[in-house]
Amino acid sequence: MPRTLLPALALALLVPAAPASAAGDDPRWVFYSHDTTAYTSPWYAGAHRTMIGYGCTRAPYYSPDSRCPVGRGFHHGIDVALPCGTPIRAGRAGRVVSSAAYGPAYGAQPLVIRNRRLGVDLLVAHARRVYVSVGDRVRRGDRLARASDSGAPDGCHLHFEVRTAGGGLDDARRPVAFLDRKPA
Ligand SMILES: [Zn+2]
Repeated sequence: MPRTLLPALALALLVPAAPASAAGDDPRWVFYSHDTTAYTSPWYAGAHRTMIGYGCTRAPYYSPDSRCPVGRGFHHGIDVALPCGTPIRAGRAGRVVSSAAYGPAYGAQPLVIRNRRLGVDLLVAHARRVYVSVGDRVRRGDRLARASDSGAPDGCHLHFEVRTAGGGLDDARRPVAFLDRKPA
């Protein structure tokens, strides 16, 4: 065996190969959903699992909520595990409106797209490299941002939330239908 191959061989033996499906997985992800299906969606590139669904959750990041079993909090959106940097696109058309009323829990640059026909605000949280500005009109498929962990303790993901247009947290509604997701 040529002497020059030895270091490479030793390295190959020491470092286990990661399974292909784990490429880009975030070690901070914790899944509080029983649904292990990977879904595609016009809102993001690739096929990915749900971390936390909408409604009462065992996830420890939320204050106990009177709507839920004792001690459990209420999650107002749906969290999709996205490797950091995953492209996020507009899954529905609308106009970008201010996200100033949203707190730091939504990250440094949350995005709100108002669809007047549907009467809803569509919120994309934990984004970075936001490519659109308040006042812009976006069409389905337009690039919006990239997934990040801004404001998220549990790794890079998309928090997708739907509220009645102009509404507050109490106006959040079940968001799944607006994701238009399909099992991969
Ligand atoms: Zn969330």
